[in-house]
Amino acid sequence: MSQNTSLSFEVFPPKKEEEFENIFDFLREAAKLHPDFISCTYGAGGSRAGKTIEIASYIQKELKIDAIAHITCVGFTRADLEKNCEALKAAGVNHVLALRGDRPQHMTDEQFNSREFFYAADLVRHLKEHTTLQISGACYPEKHFEAPSLEEDLRHLKEKVDAGVTSLVTQMFFDNACFYRFMELVRAKGITVPVHAGIMPITTAKQLGTTVSLSGSSVPKELADLIATYGENKEDMRKAGIDYAVRQILDLKEQGVDGIHIYSMNKLKTTTEICGMI
Ligand code: FAD
Repeated sequence: MSQNTSLSFEVFPPKKEEEFENIFDFLREAAKLHPDFISCTYGAGGSRAGKTIEIASYIQKELKIDAIAHITCVGFTRADLEKNCEALKAAGVNHVLALRGDRPQHMTDEQFNSREFFYAADLVRHLKEHTTLQISGACYPEKHFEAPSLEEDLRHLKEKVDAGVTSLVTQMFFDNACFYRFMELVRAKGITVPVHAGIMPITTAKQLGTTVSLSGSSVPKELADLIATYGENKEDMRKAGIDYAVRQILDLKEQGVDGIHIYSMNKLKTTTEICGMI
């Protein structure tokens, strides 16, 4: 098994104010698992941006773990972005995951078609020119849903990396074969930066439905069968879902993947159990 595979987690700012403090308990415990970095998502359209920065700052300054703050640009002006970058700097966060973001529902066609930053690569170029931030980016083993083909998506991925991205995090996937095929194409394209494989543990049947509709990731028969068998039983489903994620991770490590990025969903028990088994 590769000793060099990095481990990282993704967290999100809880929506309800009363749940917000819980994230810090999660982070303190998660820190004991010695992740190489923890990333924190950014609400669609920039809602709760301050919370992302507050969490990333805590990870960086209090826990002394490399924090990656996600930032998006879809509805943003250069001035908005500048404000955000100043807030990141003041909070001691120097690493971002630069994303285009999904089109917010309230955005009209006119607004969408005249946006200041068209793609994540434009954001990356802007950040490279105006800040000293370290920049990561997103990639999609089963292609981004808007891209007409994986080949075209990869061409744009190469542009994004050439613009200044130093590592990539993948969309979640449940079929390692898709990831291996993708990695062959990525390397053949001359993209040499580390790629962190995104693993989402599926612990309830409902979660799979939501996840798949958001990510577009395909569901292999083995995972579908597992839901059919254990979906009705909460505890059995949790165990089976954890076991599936662990098997995925062990196989990826065996193949020498650069990094494992666990979409933790802020769930401490699941994250800890998985880390104990890998
Ligand atoms: P881009 O890299 O800009 O790609 C978007 C699409 O445009 C692709 O189809 C690409 O092929 C195409 N494209 C790129 N350049 C060109 C060009 N020059 N000409 C034509 N087409 C082009 N969303 C959030 O709101 N908050 C988050 O915190 C968040 N975190 C994420 C973390 C990860 C690891 C991933 C994988 C996704 C995350 N997302 C998040 C979702 C992301 O914002 C959406 O998937 C969004 O639709 C695409 O963002 P991107 O940065 O990958 O876009």
